[in-house]
Amino acid sequence: MSIYDDDVFRMACTQFKVIADYLNIDKNDRDRLMYPKRAIAVTLPVHMDDGSTKTFQGYRVQHHLTLGPTKGGTRFAPSLSMGETAALAMWMSWKCALANLPYGGAKGGIACDPATLSHRELEALSRRYMQEMIPFVGPHTDIMGPDMGTNEEVMAWFMDTYSVYQGYSVSEIVTGKPVSIGGTEGRRESTGRGVVYLIERAMDMLKMDPAKCTAIVQGFGNVGSVAALSLALKTGIKIVGISDATVALYNPKGIDVKAAEQHVIKKGNLKAFDQGDRIDPNEMLVMPCDVLVPAAVDRVITEKNAAQLKCRILAEGANGPTSPEADLILEKRWDEVFVIPDILCNAGGVIVSYFEWVQGLQSFLWSEMEVTDKLFRILEHSFTQVIRRAKENKISHRTAAMSIGVERVLKAKSVRGLFP
Ligand code: NAD
Repeated sequence: MSIYDDDVFRMACTQFKVIADYLNIDKNDRDRLMYPKRAIAVTLPVHMDDGSTKTFQGYRVQHHLTLGPTKGGTRFAPSLSMGETAALAMWMSWKCALANLPYGGAKGGIACDPATLSHRELEALSRRYMQEMIPFVGPHTDIMGPDMGTNEEVMAWFMDTYSVYQGYSVSEIVTGKPVSIGGTEGRRESTGRGVVYLIERAMDMLKMDPAKCTAIVQGFGNVGSVAALSLALKTGIKIVGISDATVALYNPKGIDVKAAEQHVIKKGNLKAFDQGDRIDPNEMLVMPCDVLVPAAVDRVITEKNAAQLKCRILAEGANGPTSPEADLILEKRWDEVFVIPDILCNAGGVIVSYFEWVQGLQSFLWSEMEVTDKLFRILEHSFTQVIRRAKENKISHRTAAMSIGVERVLKAKSVRGLFP
């Protein structure tokens, strides 16, 4: 029994073992590639508005330091555990390596429900988390970013807390911060934009006409809302289904995504948005559409629904949305469902975070056009490599993407030695 014992970590390990077998990785190298280098657990007492003191649990996992500092988001979610954090850190490692970024993977977060905290409580909790992490993170050690349940404001509190401790401004300690304090243009939109760039590439390959296509997007946060908006407004695809944690909406005539975005800005979620029929969130995933974008939580495509998916393209905006059991089913359906695996599909976020870090270290300011242009070039290169390897070796897109990432980390470890 390890401290990482958890279903999501087991899933990440199962995926890794498939790749390790495929690449014939020596048994002496497997565990050190798979297990995180470091894991930190912290206790976070916070004065609540009602006068009580509540104690939260926080985590940070740094998967490997072989290629540079670690990099990864910060998740605020009620069910967050050390194991889930470790799984997300491992996926970050393969994602960064696939995009050829000089990082190992990391992930962190707090087991909490941010929706139930007041603004003051959220700030106190965020600052306390960074305060506890100061000995373990740094612009050349581990750089944090946003993930589910966190946003630009939380990143600003992290940066400020770290900077106050150092006595000068250290903008490079976090990415995804507001542009006014050293964030980069185009970071907020980067993950969703990258998802849509890759969907367009896949449609091009499959000779699909976006004007005649429909899409369903699960999750309407940073990734899901930007992806849905960009699909509708940039490519002309009709969005027939959207959902968040409160509701799933389906409308074969099309949903006005701009109106949905405005509704969420005002009300905080889609609960009272009235365009479309309310349907079972699980059923939404198997409704007919050309493009399905899971952009919320992990393990929503499982052995129970993988055979029923009716999409032509499955674009994994979320991390780990497809279980290994579902992968086996999708592998058999390779000519029906074109999978854009998560470590490729949602890599836009970490790629632009890397640009933000580089700009911070060198005090450079790039325009949004420069950022987006450089983002698409890296995604194009990764996409081409994945498709080529999958075709040449007759393997799934996930196996191709992960094997490129794992291979790069293995190569670096073998020339460096046992330390990192
Ligand atoms: P977010 O907190 O901004 O939004 C999450 C959305 O998912 C919200 O609309 C929420 O209501 C919804 N949601 C939560 N549980 C749900 C459920 N069971 N069913 C349907 N909807 C549900 O988070 P985000 O930043 O958009 O991240 C979404 C996913 O994308 C996560 O898996 C995250 O790890 C991944 N990701 C995010 C980034 C990034 O840059 N933000 C980068 C790469 C990957």
